[in-house]
Amino acid sequence: MEKLVSLAKRRGFVFQSSEIYGGLGSVWDYGPLGVELKKNLIERWWRSMVHEREDIEGIDSAILMHARVWEASEHVSSFTDPLVDCKQCKNRFRADDESIKGTPGEEDAQCPVCGSKGTLTAPRMFNLMFKTFMGPVEEDASQIYLRPETAQGTYVNFLNVMQSSRQKIPFGIAQVGKAFRNEITPGNFIFLTREFEQMEMQYFVKPGDDEEWFEYWHAERMKWHKELGIDGNKLRYHPHGEGELAHYAKRAEDIQYEFPFGWQELEGVHNRTDFDLSRHQEFSGKKLQYVDTVSKDRFTPYVVETALGVGRLFLVVMADAYREEAVEGESRVVLGLHPSIAPIKAGIFPLVKKDGMPELARSIRDDLRKRFPVFYDEGGSIGRRYRRQDEAGTPFGVTVDGQTTQDQTVTVRDRDTLHQDRVSLDKLAEYLTERL
Ligand code: ATP
Repeated sequence: MEKLVSLAKRRGFVFQSSEIYGGLGSVWDYGPLGVELKKNLIERWWRSMVHEREDIEGIDSAILMHARVWEASEHVSSFTDPLVDCKQCKNRFRADDESIKGTPGEEDAQCPVCGSKGTLTAPRMFNLMFKTFMGPVEEDASQIYLRPETAQGTYVNFLNVMQSSRQKIPFGIAQVGKAFRNEITPGNFIFLTREFEQMEMQYFVKPGDDEEWFEYWHAERMKWHKELGIDGNKLRYHPHGEGELAHYAKRAEDIQYEFPFGWQELEGVHNRTDFDLSRHQEFSGKKLQYVDTVSKDRFTPYVVETALGVGRLFLVVMADAYREEAVEGESRVVLGLHPSIAPIKAGIFPLVKKDGMPELARSIRDDLRKRFPVFYDEGGSIGRRYRRQDEAGTPFGVTVDGQTTQDQTVTVRDRDTLHQDRVSLDKLAEYLTERL
């Protein structure tokens, strides 16, 4: 894990937020390569969820919403973690923190930081939503929240989307956007952060059809992760038991990944029943129902949700792609990213900095970069330049050499197999596009 974090910083994938001020806890910034990888992941998800389907529409709802939304969704009353405070050192812990010995609130409890006995308070509930104020007056009446999930923005727009797009049940609404949670024990790099991005899809179905659609989405999402090139042996389902189910869920199953720190949730598939729509109906007084055009049945749809964190997926593809190996007597670090999500698709190199090779290589770069991101590099030995791109996850290396000026061909090196093909310049773009 340390190696991955160090590579992420060194190569410009992920930086700590406000690093020059000592950093802000569990908030991260995406660098030049990171932002490309993140955009590619989102684009791939959006394409499969929205563009390639007739039954799913996209939206982009605001982060700030009416405060009543979060009362209706029960986030105000239930989106809480039990916390204990140490009266001695003022540190705060989750009540289920395994490093606490004894029972918080009792004499035998010991603070895991300062070691004092009997100084831990009994657990108190702490809400994970960030609060802020809207308008010029900081008073309770103007208090609003930064959304802790994108789903509610989808529910309150259910009628707007259905009517404007003329969708009929079953249909879904997909959304990608930022969410915020004041997590108490965040950590493991970008695994659990206080600001993060979600890719969520709410699928509205007829009550009674929900179990079948749950099965469908639960299989679809696993398939999607495997198609992204993630090692199937490191993916598994984890059904939520009674105690684990969220207040709104009838059934929930996580897709877990075997991270360097153990099996943990990557994505959640939830049967949210008609909980959210019913609650919004009750709190807003607006009917959020569907009338079947044939049977004239009126009902509040059930919802099957798929909820995936962009940063969580980013960490999975990085961890899954990272490898160290020895080739040609030298060790190299490779990010074996699926070509479709790699930040840079090809490195363009003149073998040497003379004989017209740099000029030719730059003109190849100018041509290719109209189609996809490429990187021109003339610094250092060719082996070092290949290795820099291996680390960045670039799937192809295009080298201009002495032969290029004579027969208009270049070598194309494959990052994983190291196999080199001689490709004619007029076929190069096509050759690469086919393999991306
Ligand atoms: P966890 O138990 O891991 O905090 P959760 O069960 O609360 O997650 P959901 O509310 O179902 O998560 O959120 C859906 C997805 O959003 C998660 O599967 C995860 O990928 C992502 N996610 C949730 N909270 C965070 C966070 N604090 N940081 C990064 N990603 C998150």
